[in-house]
Amino acid sequence: MTSDGLKAMLDDIDIEVELTRHWIGKPALNPRVMAAMAKVPRQRFLPPDLAHLAFRNGPVPIGHGQTISQPYIVALMSDLLELEAGDTILEIGTGSGYQAAVLAELVRQVYTVEIVAPLAEAAAARLAELGYRNIEVRQGDGYQGWPEHAPYDGIIVTAAAPHIPQPLIEQLKPGARLVIPVGRAGWNQELQVIEKAADGTLHTRHVLAVAFVPLTGPLADAQ
Ligand code: SAH
Repeated sequence: MTSDGLKAMLDDIDIEVELTRHWIGKPALNPRVMAAMAKVPRQRFLPPDLAHLAFRNGPVPIGHGQTISQPYIVALMSDLLELEAGDTILEIGTGSGYQAAVLAELVRQVYTVEIVAPLAEAAAARLAELGYRNIEVRQGDGYQGWPEHAPYDGIIVTAAAPHIPQPLIEQLKPGARLVIPVGRAGWNQELQVIEKAADGTLHTRHVLAVAFVPLTGPLADAQ
């Protein structure tokens, strides 16, 4: 049974997908992705005093100047990864852990890196409490990826990067995709999908304009 709030959230995602169909190149998202969105309890990822906003189709503050992304964007980015059940995925920007949980419903293993230590700790505790056994959270600078578990079937960055981090390209399997918002804070950012072909060449798709908190850390800032 889906609650009325959750049903409204899923309907809002479907509507926004339809409205943006020309940018994203399809009229509806993969039903597996929508089923994962229906399953993960978004209210458990919000600060308790904001839990009533869980099913609004908007970003919500989670402390430390960070936000849990809008449900439409979480669903869209999950869809753009073109996931398969056996995949191993890397996420940069754990935040609340919500996106990681959605991915964990869709693939075999999720690795996720968060630079803000208290957020990494809180997300790891929350995900364990919710029973997720296929997510590993690490505190650190995700610009470097997580080389120990590379290569990945897909990499998702949920903070805006001023440029594409080269280590993430290196940690993609041939045939895999990097889904990443590119641009500076307060400037036009663009959601990009970078596919690494079997021969290693990169193909970039520009999907749509987005607004993310910035990827921080010394490497993202360096040119
Ligand atoms: N995916 C999250 C929302 C992410 S908000 C969710 O589902 O809730 C972006 C997150 O990226 C923030 O928590 C921020 O602290 C983190 N972040 C920013 N720069 C980072 C970096 N260099 N490495 C890892 N995480 C980073």
